[in-house]
Amino acid sequence: MSAQRIDGKAFALGLRERVGIAAASFRAKTGRAPGLAVVLVGEDPASQVYVRAKGKATVEAGMESFEHKRDAAISQEELLALVDDLNRDERVDGILVQLPLPPHIDEAAVIAAIDPDKDVDGFHLINVGRLATGAPGLVPCTPLGCLQLLRDELGDLSGRDAVVVGRSNIVGKPMAALLVRESCTVTIAHSRTRDLPGLIGRSDIVIAAIGRPRFIKGEWLKPGATVIDVGVNRLEDKKLAGDVDFATAVEVAGAITPVPGGVGPMTIAMLMRNTLVAAHRRAGLAPPAGL
Ligand code: NAP
Repeated sequence: MSAQRIDGKAFALGLRERVGIAAASFRAKTGRAPGLAVVLVGEDPASQVYVRAKGKATVEAGMESFEHKRDAAISQEELLALVDDLNRDERVDGILVQLPLPPHIDEAAVIAAIDPDKDVDGFHLINVGRLATGAPGLVPCTPLGCLQLLRDELGDLSGRDAVVVGRSNIVGKPMAALLVRESCTVTIAHSRTRDLPGLIGRSDIVIAAIGRPRFIKGEWLKPGATVIDVGVNRLEDKKLAGDVDFATAVEVAGAITPVPGGVGPMTIAMLMRNTLVAAHRRAGLAPPAGL
């Protein structure tokens, strides 16, 4: 039987609508809209596309968008001064510095300079620690989006065996921490893992965050498994493919995210959600439930 397709695009659209309603209610209570500041350094075409999409989504959700574009030659000192200004700006609830930054800038130092309570990317070490210890904080958008899709599909995740393939700081590690928080039994796999097919074959949940097109084969999967494919790989024919071989996986899995239209749209939706949550916390209000 063919697996159910998890429609991340539709889920993200619904979530963005709910964020828009909550943003209007925040505005009615506080007299101002939640604000997201995005900093773009240089002319990287992919980064320009992402920043434009984030700005558009922010405005569509009824929030205020502040875009700060700077030349690639900006000094680290000048960039840190901009972050400091945004930290102090009362209209700004979320700060996102689009990565990658030019090689002469120390990314870790820039992330460390962001006020952790405005760190809507969830990359600040304070937020990494909060996630690891279960304290409320801001969680990276892509893994948080994956978790929402999983919860929507499976309900309670407790006790399930999950494998996260990939151990990056932006996807794999926070994803594993979130699944531990949900009481899954979690294995993190990476390029040195000895028996990846065996591990995957024992898992109820498979998260693929590798960056290799169609790497995970359908025959490796446990029948009925739920598969979340984070991978976005551009093929020679310009089409997009995930890290999972969708054609074979769909025959074995119980449910699977397509690429495109699965995890991708969730990332921006979760950025809107994180900005809204940050705005509520900064205003001393409880973040809206169910977002
Ligand atoms: P990354 O930093 O390059 O990390 C890739 C991970 O995959 C590493 O931990 C690596 O292991 C592991 N890996 C590589 N080859 C492997 C193999 N043969 N077997 C098992 N593990 C292997 O990538 P990332 O930033 O996490 O991104 C992963 C994918 O997700 C990419 O396709 C990226 O484009 C996509 N992505 C999508 C979104 C979205 O919004 N949809 C957001 C972020 C990323 P080692 O640590 O041992 O090297």
